[in-house]
Amino acid sequence: MARYTGPSCRLCRREGQKLFLKGERCYSEKCALEKRAYAPGQHGQNRKKNSNYGLQLREKQKAKRFYGLQETQFRNYFDKAAAKKGMTGANLLIMLETRLDNAVFRMGFASSRKEARQLVTHGHFTVNGKKADIPSMAIKAGDVIAVKEKSASSPKFKEIKEMTISTPAWISIDTNKLEGKILSMPTRDMIDTPVEEHLIVELYSK
Ligand code: SF4
Repeated sequence: MARYTGPSCRLCRREGQKLFLKGERCYSEKCALEKRAYAPGQHGQNRKKNSNYGLQLREKQKAKRFYGLQETQFRNYFDKAAAKKGMTGANLLIMLETRLDNAVFRMGFASSRKEARQLVTHGHFTVNGKKADIPSMAIKAGDVIAVKEKSASSPKFKEIKEMTISTPAWISIDTNKLEGKILSMPTRDMIDTPVEEHLIVELYSK
């Protein structure tokens, strides 16, 4: 699957919001948005106000970039969300939130979703004791995600054992065992993604 390989900070500057794509740097003074809080490019500082369509488009781009997805993947999620019962926008965010790579990030095993995806692809995790190396895998309530025994001795994961990690209400984590549990499926109010999903629904419903 093709992936955006350009500068991550440029995406945050374009959206005018921190998307937390670079791990620890995002929480430091080095964050590009702290220094240059305007859109990239020659006319970045003089951009006009967005039209309705522009606002909807930006919200979709923001969500897509936040979760590190390409347009086709994102659209597929939207179509599946629309086919489900309930609010399409909330369904969409719940589906994105319950991807394996996002859960690994939320459990604190990675400093960004990008790193989480890489760690999953490299086979460092199991789900319910079985090998799980597909970042898009949909996890469900009761699933246990753990760092593979073989990987647990790496400095990266040893460090995590010493850490106190705060997780969203739908996840619990045992850093000593290097494993986390999905306590329940998240509801919209448990997801802190800074996205107005109704704008995405409006965009795709045109
Ligand atoms: Fe975005 Fe992180 Fe870069 Fe800041 S450091 S602009 S939050 S990717």
